[in-house]
Amino acid sequence: RSYLDHAAGSPILPEVLDAMLPVLSLAGNPNSTHAAGRRARRLLEESREAIAERVGALPAELIFTAGGTESNNLAILGAVGDPARPRLAISTVEHASVAAVVERSAEVDRLPVDASGHLDVAAAEQLITSATALVSVIWVNNETGAIQPISAVAELAHRHGALFHADAVAALGHVEIGLAGSGADLISLSAHKVGGPVGIGALVVRRGVRLRPVGFGGGQEARLRSGTVPVALAVGFAAAVRLAVDHLEAEVERLRGLRDQLIAELARLPQVRINTVEPAGPAIVNATFSGTRADDLLLLLDGAGVEASTGSACSAGVHQPSEVLLAMGRSQDDASASLRFSFGPSTTSTDIERVVAVLPTALARARRALG
Ligand code: PMP
Repeated sequence: RSYLDHAAGSPILPEVLDAMLPVLSLAGNPNSTHAAGRRARRLLEESREAIAERVGALPAELIFTAGGTESNNLAILGAVGDPARPRLAISTVEHASVAAVVERSAEVDRLPVDASGHLDVAAAEQLITSATALVSVIWVNNETGAIQPISAVAELAHRHGALFHADAVAALGHVEIGLAGSGADLISLSAHKVGGPVGIGALVVRRGVRLRPVGFGGGQEARLRSGTVPVALAVGFAAAVRLAVDHLEAEVERLRGLRDQLIAELARLPQVRINTVEPAGPAIVNATFSGTRADDLLLLLDGAGVEASTGSACSAGVHQPSEVLLAMGRSQDDASASLRFSFGPSTTSTDIERVVAVLPTALARARRALG
């Protein structure tokens, strides 16, 4: 079978599991002062240092969370509350963990994207003002792979005294990310998109940036995120980030080769539009298969051994048209006829060849089904 849904969750890497297993059975709360507690604390801080170093941050700037969703929520909810700055600005192609939280917390300005899914910086310039508390933009889009002009938006935000947050969950391991150079004040990360364990992520908070805590309790993680940090998950997260960042260049080149191979093959099929346009990450291919319903196509591909995704929200097994593709100006029909293939360390050209081999039959059947 070909698992091409790494953007939803990439299988845990063997090196990550090896690093975690001995830690899972250790006793010790990292906040305890006895020897077991100190050992847990040491493992936690070593993990924090390893991750921080690889995203160009200081260890004290890295706050462990339960994942990307919590990091995004903390960045946004933690930044609102100044009556002089009642507004938030986000792009129209954010993940639900940004898009769904802003409306609950402030007046929202939506920064538009063009037909390729890239932010319109000139339009953003009109919408970001001195009333903006925070600007939040997804670094690499998890549905299309589009890379956003992060430094340009950070500069716009700072020009007006606003904070800038980047959701780098789909960027980690696929582009060089970091506090230094990007201009970001806040960066969200998640472990399970890079072969780490599910259930841990981080929010990088640049030194000097003041956030309000969202949850309350023991005051762990610089009082920003109370609760005992899962040390074994942190160790696994660090192992995954080491592998992802230390081999970034070679892996990006390899993945880009696979991506371009699939794009070239898809472009040959009738009534297919490629939605992944440069600048884009190397691990996502999104395409519209006109005249199909994505759900039908997914099921047919699954039956033929290919596991892909629509990339968009799914409730009770029924897919909604992708908000991201709608924001890019696609019709409801096209936004409901699009699939995402996403790659990871285990993906090879055999997987691409399988997709290419089974897709024509699946497409013909899905088009017949729609009639
Ligand atoms: N942001 C992006 C861009 C994502 O792709 C995801 C995962 N789908 C999240 C945030 C949420 O991350 P997590 O699953 O760790 O909560």
